[in-house]
Amino acid sequence: MIERKITGNLVNAYFICHRKVWLFAHEINPSLDNPYLEIGTLIGEQSYKREKKEIQAGNMKIDLIKKENGNIVVAEIKKSSKGEKAATMQLLFYLYQLRQKGIEANGELLIPKERKKISVELTEENEKELKKAFADIKEILKMETPPPLKKISFCKNCAYSEFCWA
Ligand code: SF4
Repeated sequence: MIERKITGNLVNAYFICHRKVWLFAHEINPSLDNPYLEIGTLIGEQSYKREKKEIQAGNMKIDLIKKENGNIVVAEIKKSSKGEKAATMQLLFYLYQLRQKGIEANGELLIPKERKKISVELTEENEKELKKAFADIKEILKMETPPPLKKISFCKNCAYSEFCWA
């Protein structure tokens, strides 16, 4: 069993594939020349270059943070809306972490390729869903071996596809 802090990336992975959570947490690095990683990095670097202010605080790595009409807005940038649920939960994780520190913020999920901006708000209901994910992630991390392989639609574009399916 490994001890690891829950991070936004783990929360994102949980809503995609539990095996991905385990691989990520065990620092099994996907191939760095994977084109999907590259696209993700490029989108993160090029879109919103002027307002981009990536911050790392504890187990949070926030893509962009800004002040709008006196409110703090935390944004997460993604390459497509395919993983919208996972990206939303990742963003909610940051809003939750900030609330624990006494900071109230709103969230924005940005998908520049699709010109989408989705507002995300931490509610009692999605906070419950998040806490269930935390408990499940801890259970996944206790596993000696990764959860079994199961082909899902995300496998095609997953950075671990070579590792899982080669
Ligand atoms: S390739 Fe598929 S099974 Fe493997 S980690 Fe990615 S999504 Fe999960």
